[in-house]
Amino acid sequence: MNFISTRGGEKVSGARAIVQGLSHNGGLFVPEKFPEVSKEELEAMLSMSYAERAAKVLHKYLDDYDEKELLRACEEAYSRFEGNDPAPLVKIDDGVYVLELFHGPTCAFKDMALSLLPYLLRKGCDICGIKEDILILVATSGDTGKAALEGFKDAKGVKICVFYPNDGVSKMQKLQMCTQEGSNVDVVAVKGNFDDCQTAVKTIFNSVECAAELKKCNYLLSSANSINFGRLAPQIAYYFSSYLDLVSCGQIEMGTPIDFCVPTGNFGNILAAYYAKMMGLPVRRLHCASNMNNVLTDFLAKGEYDARREFYKTTSPSMDILISSNLERLLFEISGRDAALTSSRMEQLKSGKFYKITPEEQANINQTFDGGFANEEEVVETIYDVFCDTGYTMDTHTGCAMKVAVDWFEKNKKDTTNMVVVSTASPYKFPQDVLYAVTGNDVRDSFKGIKRLHAATAMAVPKSLSTLRDKTVRFNLVVSPEKMFDEVLRFVSSK
Ligand SMILES: *Cc1c(COP(=O)(O)O)cnc(C)c1O
Repeated sequence: MNFISTRGGEKVSGARAIVQGLSHNGGLFVPEKFPEVSKEELEAMLSMSYAERAAKVLHKYLDDYDEKELLRACEEAYSRFEGNDPAPLVKIDDGVYVLELFHGPTCAFKDMALSLLPYLLRKGCDICGIKEDILILVATSGDTGKAALEGFKDAKGVKICVFYPNDGVSKMQKLQMCTQEGSNVDVVAVKGNFDDCQTAVKTIFNSVECAAELKKCNYLLSSANSINFGRLAPQIAYYFSSYLDLVSCGQIEMGTPIDFCVPTGNFGNILAAYYAKMMGLPVRRLHCASNMNNVLTDFLAKGEYDARREFYKTTSPSMDILISSNLERLLFEISGRDAALTSSRMEQLKSGKFYKITPEEQANINQTFDGGFANEEEVVETIYDVFCDTGYTMDTHTGCAMKVAVDWFEKNKKDTTNMVVVSTASPYKFPQDVLYAVTGNDVRDSFKGIKRLHAATAMAVPKSLSTLRDKTVRFNLVVSPEKMFDEVLRFVSSK
């Protein structure tokens, strides 16, 4: 299977698409055509483990990787998750299920892909005949950095360096990163805010001199961000797996279409659901859930993408995004794979923060997608209602999605299609906000929040969070943006 750029001009193998990350003209790599999964293949996947299902789905796209080796990599990656199912489905009401994607090492859904990305990248280099080791650079506002560190720790032939704004992450996030274990990791605080941090990392990525310096040390620069196809592919797998779980526990018959409702930021998670549908998974509708930063809700309702608006900091920070980069892949599909048109819309977005699609394209999108959002009060109310009515506790991001799902059933009372609400973080990752929603109590300290939330809900605390307080701080360096590359060079030259 080959991959092409959403902005035209390039055709590469799966391995190359993953190693390179982004096409040279700035476009995103998409499969030349969607591979199909037949009904017989779906039947055969019923009796498989999560890792086996994931390897099957991945190999449909990445047929230049060895399938048995992919399976071993999936088994290894998901064995690091807590419990025996990396993506369990919980029934909370008739026809309503929660797909929990937060049982990985950092308690959020990014672990599903970042646990596997080191293998996909390292093997991709081997397939492409690249001899250098890889250096992953990440600028993070919190969650992605930690998930990447956990994914890449002790991976062979790879080093990872994460930069975070010294005053721009929560106390808990800082502690998670600064206590990171692994012999190939570096964590550095940067003086300034997230933008300063990200701009400096981009400058390193775009610098020919930096690349040459790194090459002298036998390193090739790469990124782990969510537009890499290696982040998208592992996410397609859990849509298949949750469908198969519904069939195998007798909730639906094979072939019955279902809906997914997905808390959305960069549009990566929900796009993976769309890819699953395009491959033949019986999916009816996809509900795109936002918080108050509801650019996507408006886009799906009006066919206009307008990022010229106020930015809100909310209690669901991973969805505080105004430019959803993975939407480019959907635009490419619904324009009839028109690379010139996709390109020009991305240019308009860059220069004027605005573009429009045609009424036909909008109608086409709306055949599958609809959008909704929750404001801050509605998130609290939804978490509280579901906790009272069913005993189930969810985090703030999942709260947004649940609100959108509840609204859908309010408007479509006769709809009997099963709804899977995707849950992207453990409630213990946002203990104070969830505690407030469930009990009305405010606590200042995160660890106290965890303790009180456990007392209120009796839900098990993930080990990675309960042991965090006793871990040793390994990283405490703070640098100014101009000194970041010096630290990178020191790091790659160290043993
Ligand atoms: C990253 C993230 C999201 C948003 O996912 P996208 O793929 O960017 O749409 C939602 N919830 C949590 C907890 C996340 O970490």
